Amino acid sequence: MLVSQSQTSPLPNPALTSGIDDIAERVYCGERITESDAARLFSHQNIVEVGALADYVRWKKHPEPIVTYVISRNVNYTNVCWVRCGFCNFYRVPGDEGGYVLPKETIFQKLQELSDAGGVEVLMQGGLNPKLKLEWYEDLLRDMRERFPHIIRHAFSPAELIYIKKISRLSMEETLQRLKAAGLQSIPGGGAEILDDRVRSFISPHKDTADEWIDCMRVAHKVGLPSTATMMYGSIDTIDDRVEHFRRLRELQDETGGFTAFAAWNYQPDGTQLGGSRAPAIDYLRTIAIARIYLDNFDNVQASWVTQGPRIGQVSLRYGVNDFGQTMMEENVVSAAGCVFAVPIEEMERLIVDAGFTPRRRNTRYELVS
Ligand code: SF4
Repeated sequence: MLVSQSQTSPLPNPALTSGIDDIAERVYCGERITESDAARLFSHQNIVEVGALADYVRWKKHPEPIVTYVISRNVNYTNVCWVRCGFCNFYRVPGDEGGYVLPKETIFQKLQELSDAGGVEVLMQGGLNPKLKLEWYEDLLRDMRERFPHIIRHAFSPAELIYIKKISRLSMEETLQRLKAAGLQSIPGGGAEILDDRVRSFISPHKDTADEWIDCMRVAHKVGLPSTATMMYGSIDTIDDRVEHFRRLRELQDETGGFTAFAAWNYQPDGTQLGGSRAPAIDYLRTIAIARIYLDNFDNVQASWVTQGPRIGQVSLRYGVNDFGQTMMEENVVSAAGCVFAVPIEEMERLIVDAGFTPRRRNTRYELVS
């Protein structure tokens, strides 16, 4: 049963927003905030005030006190990758010991387990493996569609797609049309990191540029493949870099409307070439709250409890987040960099209920499922 909005307290007290009154005024009037407003929110000391504004926007977009989540499994089909991103501890370069490509039967076994657990989505991502051509992906997608038609294939982030396109000597549109015809349904927004080439050329110099990432998503949306958008902050990025990231996402969303959700997580430094330290939870809450306020054309903002832990994930529900993301039956990428949070479904639902919301399952398209 749904709880009515009046049982909650969605509206912040305007008296609490001193120092950012003009921004708050614009938000309450339903106006857009500017990039300089977003930068000011990053510098505003009182994070509770920023969170209250984000909470206000969340309730305006989602008046029912529902928090959604999806039963999904992350299948990392290969860890072979020549790109060597400085923040990644997951890859093995071609020829290295420990490099793998999952056999189809192993992937199907994982999908069967997912199906048995009531799963509705598989999130497939992997390294940029020179041995895997477009035909390998098409063949896999067709077989997955045939065996598990009820599991949505949410797969291949822009870095993978751009590489598949390059080695297949096709255009982005042809590549995506072929993958879509084979069964691809949605694209994960991974690999966005920070959409600014100063940051990208330092942390992942061999990966796609910000323009390439945006263009891949533009074409995906054009051919009818929706996607999520992500952000990995906390490496060498400045406030201006994060705002620039938001600007590029909002601009593309104005153009295509193809992003279904936004998620952010902090750089996980353990064992990586880049090293450094982990951004604190308060930085996560501030960043996700500003994303909710600035990205006014995004319906959904996901929690990232895999990197932040379930408690901060729960707190983020009052900082603009309306979706608890995926139940991770398996996660190999951030866990390779020292991040190992895992929560059973019952515990996830309890966290949502304890925060004052009703948990509801959804699919990749954000349709509620029973
Ligand atoms: S982040 Fe992706 S592209 Fe970069 S090294 Fe890791 S697997 Fe390869």
